[in-house]
Amino acid sequence: MSRYTGAVCKLCRREGKKLFLKGERCYTGKCAFERRAYAPGQHGQSRKKTSEYGLQLRAKQQARRYYGIQEGQFHKYFIMAEKKAGVTGENLLRICESRLDNVVYLLGWASSRNEGRQLVTHGHFKVNGKRVDIPSYLLKAGDVVSIKEKSQDSEKFKAVLEANSGRPVPTWLERDNDALTGKVINLPDREQIEAPVEEHLIVEFYSK
Ligand code: SF4
Repeated sequence: MSRYTGAVCKLCRREGKKLFLKGERCYTGKCAFERRAYAPGQHGQSRKKTSEYGLQLRAKQQARRYYGIQEGQFHKYFIMAEKKAGVTGENLLRICESRLDNVVYLLGWASSRNEGRQLVTHGHFKVNGKRVDIPSYLLKAGDVVSIKEKSQDSEKFKAVLEANSGRPVPTWLERDNDALTGKVINLPDREQIEAPVEEHLIVEFYSK
């Protein structure tokens, strides 16, 4: 399935909740969901009763869209999560959080996860000193992400850093603003993950 390239605000309106896909704009009055909190399209404002399956499907779609992950990859993550010890839903979110594009966003080095993915693909980052251009690269506790020296001098990148470096970093990550590095202290517990999804519904969806 190809990647969605339409207006991302429609995804929030479709899912009935803010998925924070547009960086700073999501926190302002310009947020499309704040202004039109109903699904897009001709029948968007008509009330629909949602089935149990519908709720589970929506939870899965919300998580996929929040992280910008394709269906096939998300299902693979679910299988990985099932095989790990602990609660499957939490394992799933932990895997999504540990993606390099997500960590780059959380470190304030991109305005959105989508931009984080683009910047990773363009080769702006290193992990433990080696260039990594795979957005789905999964980081581990102790890994250090850094911005490539050449990229640090690019005007575009400087503007991105300036716009986002004031954003607080989650407690499971540590950012060094001088060295422009970010360390994964530990992979996050559920309470350290802000994803607005009910992961138990995703587990129910895939367990049918
Ligand atoms: Fe969603 Fe952000 Fe658009 Fe609001 S501004 S609808 S939170 S992507």
